[in-house]
Amino acid sequence: MSRLMVSVSGVRGEVGSTLTPQVISKYTLAFGTYLKGGTVIVGRDSRVSGPFVSSIVKGCLLSTGCRVIDIGIVPTPTVQMAIEHHKAAGGIAITASHNPIQWNGLKFMDHNGRFLSPAEAAKVYAMGDNNEYQLQEWSGLGSEEKDTQANQRHIEEILKLDYIDLEKIQSRKFKVVLDTVNGAGGLIVPHLLEQFGCEVTLLNGEANGRFAHTPEPLPENLGELAEAVKKTGADVGFAVDPDVDRCAIVDNTGTPIGEEYTLALAIKLVLSQKMGRVAVNMSTSRAGEDIAKYYNCMFVRSKVGEINVAEKMLELEAIIGGEGNGGVILPELHLGRDAPLAVAMTLQALAEFEGNMHELFLSLPQYKMVKQKVSIEGMDPDKVLATMAEKYKNEQVNLLDGVKIDFDDSWVHLRKSNTEPIVRVMSEAPTVEQAEKLADQFMAEIKSLQ
Ligand code: MG
Repeated sequence: MSRLMVSVSGVRGEVGSTLTPQVISKYTLAFGTYLKGGTVIVGRDSRVSGPFVSSIVKGCLLSTGCRVIDIGIVPTPTVQMAIEHHKAAGGIAITASHNPIQWNGLKFMDHNGRFLSPAEAAKVYAMGDNNEYQLQEWSGLGSEEKDTQANQRHIEEILKLDYIDLEKIQSRKFKVVLDTVNGAGGLIVPHLLEQFGCEVTLLNGEANGRFAHTPEPLPENLGELAEAVKKTGADVGFAVDPDVDRCAIVDNTGTPIGEEYTLALAIKLVLSQKMGRVAVNMSTSRAGEDIAKYYNCMFVRSKVGEINVAEKMLELEAIIGGEGNGGVILPELHLGRDAPLAVAMTLQALAEFEGNMHELFLSLPQYKMVKQKVSIEGMDPDKVLATMAEKYKNEQVNLLDGVKIDFDDSWVHLRKSNTEPIVRVMSEAPTVEQAEKLADQFMAEIKSLQ
C-alpha cells in the first residue's frame, strides 16, 4: 500500500500517488519560509523522477525568496558538506534513499549541514500542513546558480583526513568491485577509488536512476557484486545505496559481511589511532561496543535515525559513530552518514591489516543479527512494549527508543511501527541460531499477550 512517510528522516512517497506536486510544494514552501529566504543547497540522487521533483523544489524556494545553489546529482552527504562550504542557510537532498525506483522524497537540512532536529522538522511539517508560508512579490524572488564541483570537493576532503594514508593505500593496488546500483554513487565513488590507485570493476555505474536491483545494500541484493568479486579475484567489493550514505562490504571470498561491519571497521580504525567517544543507535551491533571497550573508550547509544545519532555525537563530542546499516559518521568530515568515507576507511583498515578482507572481518567481534516482526493486530503497541519492559525489569532494560534488553552476549530490541500494527523484533547473538531463538522467544511472548 502506498503511503506518504513524514518523519525525522524527511518526506518520502511514491511518484504519481503520494508524492504529488502539492506535497512537494507545501513542505518546500514551508522550508523556504522557515529559512527566511537564505541560501539553499539543492542536490538529488539519480532517480528518474529527480528532474520533476527538483524543478518544483527549486521553483518553491525561489518563490519564497531563497537563493538556490543546485549541485546536481550527488550523494546526500555531499549536500550536507556543500551547505557548510557555501555557509548556506540549509539544504534539500531530493532522494528516497534506499527505497525502490517508484519512490522519491526530500531530506531537509539546517545551516549546520545536519538533518533538521525532530523539533525543527515538526515545525516545518506543521507549517506545510497549515499552508503557512510567505510568497515573495516579483522583486523579492530568489535566484539560482549552479555548482558542479561538490562531488570533487567531497573527495578532496576525504583524502585530507588524518586517518587516511593515501600512499599506503595506493601501494597496495587493491582490486575493487563497486556496485552503485545506477544511483548517485557512480559520479563520485569510482573517482575516489582512482585516487587510491585501485583497479576498479564498476557494476551499475550509470547514474541514470534505473536501479539494476533492489537498491537497499542488504546481502540478498548483492548477488551480482558477490559473483563479480569471486570472478575477478578482487580484494574487496563495495555496494552503496542510491543516495550514497550507506555502504556494504563484500569480502574477498564473495561473502557480504553485513552492513553492521562497515561501522565496526570504521570504529576500530579510528580508536586504534586516537582515544575518544563513540555513539551509535540502539539497533547497532555490539561489535562496536566490544571494540570501544577494548580501547577503553566511552560508548553511548542514541535513538534510531541519523539526526538522533548526530545530536548524541555532538553532545558527547564523539570522534566516530553512526548507524549499523552501513552509515559511518566521522565528525571531522561532517556530522552525517557518508558512504564514500566508509569506502576510504575500509581501504585504510585493509591496507593496515596483514591479511585479506575475510581475515580482517574475522578479526572483529563476531555477532549475528536477526530482524523479525510480529503482528499485534487489535493490541495497543505502547501497552505491549510496557508489559515486556515490566516483565524483564530485572534485566538491563533501556527505554530510550522502544524496549532494548541487553543480556550477557546478546540483546533484543523491540520497536513499534508508526504505520502498521506490528512490533519489530531485532536480536543479536554470537550465532544466527542463538539470535533466532531469542527473537522467537520474544515473538511468542508478545503473541501470548493477545
Ligand atoms: Mg540512503
